[in-house]
Amino acid sequence: MILGSHVQMKAPLFLEGSVLEALSYDANALMLYTGAPQNTVRRELSQMRIPEAQQCMKDHGIPMERMIIHAPYIINPANSVKPEVAELAVEFLNKEISRTRAIGARYLVLHPGSYTTADAPTGIRTAIAQLNRAETCDEVTVCLETMAGKGSEIGRTFEELAEILAGLDHPERFGVCFDTCHTNDAGYDLTKYDDVLDEFDRIIGLSRMHVIHLNDTKNPIGAHKDRHANIGQGTLGFETLHYIAFHPRTAHIAKILETPYIGKKPPYKEEIKMLRENRYMPELLSETAQ
Ligand code: FE
Ligand code: FE
Ligand code: ZN
Repeated sequence: MILGSHVQMKAPLFLEGSVLEALSYDANALMLYTGAPQNTVRRELSQMRIPEAQQCMKDHGIPMERMIIHAPYIINPANSVKPEVAELAVEFLNKEISRTRAIGARYLVLHPGSYTTADAPTGIRTAIAQLNRAETCDEVTVCLETMAGKGSEIGRTFEELAEILAGLDHPERFGVCFDTCHTNDAGYDLTKYDDVLDEFDRIIGLSRMHVIHLNDTKNPIGAHKDRHANIGQGTLGFETLHYIAFHPRTAHIAKILETPYIGKKPPYKEEIKMLRENRYMPELLSETAQ
């Protein structure tokens, strides 16, 4: 099973520290933001300890495509109301694509954006136009994430993602990141994962799914909320998430935990252990656990 989590990238070890953090959770995949998710301030590539990180991945037998990069969520290519926002989105997306390439990572996860005060068709059209302006390349696959449909988010149905993908000049440079919290909140019944996969395959094509965000959710199906819960502690529950984590049809895809910290502590080592051992151990997830 290819399983990891969101990790930090911070001084002094930067990207090498990200890999070490993942290893400390017994993970064999990881995902990181190249800076704060809510702003576009980024460190020089030369300071990020990229060769050291790549060596560390190699030493532990983890292929570089399992190091996933997440673009900052302020990027909104679907904003038609403030064209300068969409403009900035492309500018920053270009930098993220070249950073992802320089890091040697393969997949860059991107939220398709929000239509704000316009409407969904306009948002989708705007996103397509902006993504077609981006400087994409063959080495990096931009993975549009399935969204919960909170506020005016687009990408809340497989149909909307398929529509965006169909409008792209270089569709082969784009794919999808499947988030279990978001798809539940968008209205998909993940207790019937096989049916959801069939639907995904029919509408988008399963070969275009490259990343899975494995999260429980605080909200019932169709709530359009997007609040992540720890594994086993939400609406989806341990059994469903374990089933998804081990499903043979998506076994080749990296699963990334984006579950909330408990107190000040990341829960990832414990959640990975529970999933690997197929044993729900809620006592590991309590605030007093060491
Ligand atoms: Fe995301
Ligand atoms: Fe996600
Ligand atoms: Zn989310």
